[in-house]
Amino acid sequence: MAVFETHTSSPEETIQIAELLGKLVQEQDVLLLEGDLGAGKTTFTKGLAKGLGVKRVVNSPTFNIIKEYKGRIPLYHMDVYRLEESDEDLGFDEYFYGNGVTVVEWAHLIQDYLPEQVLKISLFHEGDGNRKMVLQPVGERYIELCKELFNHESIGY
Ligand code: ADP
Ligand code: MG
Repeated sequence: MAVFETHTSSPEETIQIAELLGKLVQEQDVLLLEGDLGAGKTTFTKGLAKGLGVKRVVNSPTFNIIKEYKGRIPLYHMDVYRLEESDEDLGFDEYFYGNGVTVVEWAHLIQDYLPEQVLKISLFHEGDGNRKMVLQPVGERYIELCKELFNHESIGY
């Protein structure tokens, strides 16, 4: 399985990479964000939104679980952390198979509801402002997407 890995040394750098990805994503793309609290999942989503041309400020959808933003295509931002106990289906498919791109923080908590083909993005603390970012594409579409992203000269492995 192809795995793409890079490192960032500041939130701005994480935003920059996510912004590039935001320019490449298409309708019905599903990105899963994994990583401990403070790893940078929401920061990554802010960058993705920037790349999609979202004007509103992106924050953690703590109370809503799902927030929708208008951009080049809609961005559906889910943070399913609070579903840990309930494992409830909130009609996720409406988003996954809708007209936009979906980002899911803590996606493993809704494992049963996720599409088969996804781009999994894991963020790891590496001290101070450093993070490791591991992209694991599942499906041809996401392998191509990762190749396109990592072909960009500003991203080093
Ligand atoms: P999560 O959503 O994973 O809980 P957040 O994105 O809300 O994490 O928070 C990440 C925090 O870590 C922010 O305060 C951000 O400024 C900081 N940070 C420091 N270095 C980085 C980095 N390289 N990438 C992303 N965030 C970073
Ligand atoms: Mg978050």
